[in-house]
Amino acid sequence: MPGRLQNKVALVTGAGSGIGLESSILFAQEGANVLLVDINLENAEKGAAIIAERFPNVKAVATKADVGKEEDVKAAVERAVKEFGRLDVMFNNAGIMHPEDDNALNTEERIWDLTMQINLKGVWWGCKYAILAMRENPTDEAKGLHVGGSIINTASFVALMGAATPQLAYTASKGGVLAMSRELAMVHAREGIRVNSLCPGPLKTPLLMDFLNTEEKRQRRMVHIPMGRFGEAVELARAALFLASDESSYVTGADFTVDGGLSSAYVTPL
Ligand code: NAD
Repeated sequence: MPGRLQNKVALVTGAGSGIGLESSILFAQEGANVLLVDINLENAEKGAAIIAERFPNVKAVATKADVGKEEDVKAAVERAVKEFGRLDVMFNNAGIMHPEDDNALNTEERIWDLTMQINLKGVWWGCKYAILAMRENPTDEAKGLHVGGSIINTASFVALMGAATPQLAYTASKGGVLAMSRELAMVHAREGIRVNSLCPGPLKTPLLMDFLNTEEKRQRRMVHIPMGRFGEAVELARAALFLASDESSYVTGADFTVDGGLSSAYVTPL
C-alpha cells in the first residue's frame, strides 16, 4: 500500500517537540521525506533519528533555523529543495507563548514584538519561500494542472475566540495567522497551492503545560473543554496529515479546528 504522502517532500517547523515532532514522524510513516526544522537542533536531530530508525525507506534531515529570521527560513526551504529535489508540504508550525505575555496594560512591547516576530512574521516568511519553491514543481501533464503544494499554518482556537485569562500578543498573532492564511489561499488557489490553518485546542505539550504551570491554572483551562481532557500532539498531527495529503485536494482557506469541542461550547458537561 503506498503511503498517504508517498514521494512527497515536507518541511516542518517546530519539529523538535509537540505537534511538529509527531507530524514529522507521521508524515515519514506515510512516505514523505522530511526536513525537520527547529531552533533547538538537538531535538530536531532526535526526531530525525526516530524516523531513520523506524522508517528506513524515507529520508529525514534536521536543520537549525529561527523562524523569526527571514534568512533562516529562506535557507531552510532551500535546504529541503537541495536535499530532496522539491517541496510539496510546508507546515509552518513553530510558535511561542511567552510567560510574560499578559493583558493590554501589562504586556511589554518587547514581548509583543517577539511574539509577532516568531508567530506571525515567521509564518509569512514560511509561506513566501514555500510558494516560491512550489511554483517550481512540475505540471501534471495527465491532469493539465500545476502540481503546486499544501501549506499548513498553525494558528489556535484563540484566533477564533477571546480568552479571559489573557495572553494578548499570542492571541493577536494567531488571529493574524488565520487571516493571512485565508488571503494566501485565495491569491494562490489557481496555482494549485492550498493554504489552510490548523486551529488546535489546549494540548498536553510543553508550550501550554509550561504556561499553565500550576494545577489551579490547568483546571481553570480544563473546565472549558467539553471532552474533559487536554489534546495530544498526535491528534493534531493526524489532522495535519489530512491537510498535507491529496485527500484534502479540494480544501483551501479552511480554519481546521481540532479542539475537543471547545470552540463550540457555551457551557460544558459536568
Ligand atoms: P512545543 O513547545 O511542544 O513545540 C514548539 C517547537 O517550536 C519547539 O520545538 C521549539 O523549540 C520550536 N520553536 C520555538 N521557537 C522557534 C523559532 N523561533 N524557530 C524555530 N523553532 C522554534 O509546542 P506545540 O504545542 O507543539 O506548539 C506548536 C504550535 O501549536 C505553536 O504554533 C503553538 O502556538 C500552536 N498551538 C499550541 C497549542 C497548545 O495547547 N499546545 C494550542 C494552540 C496552538
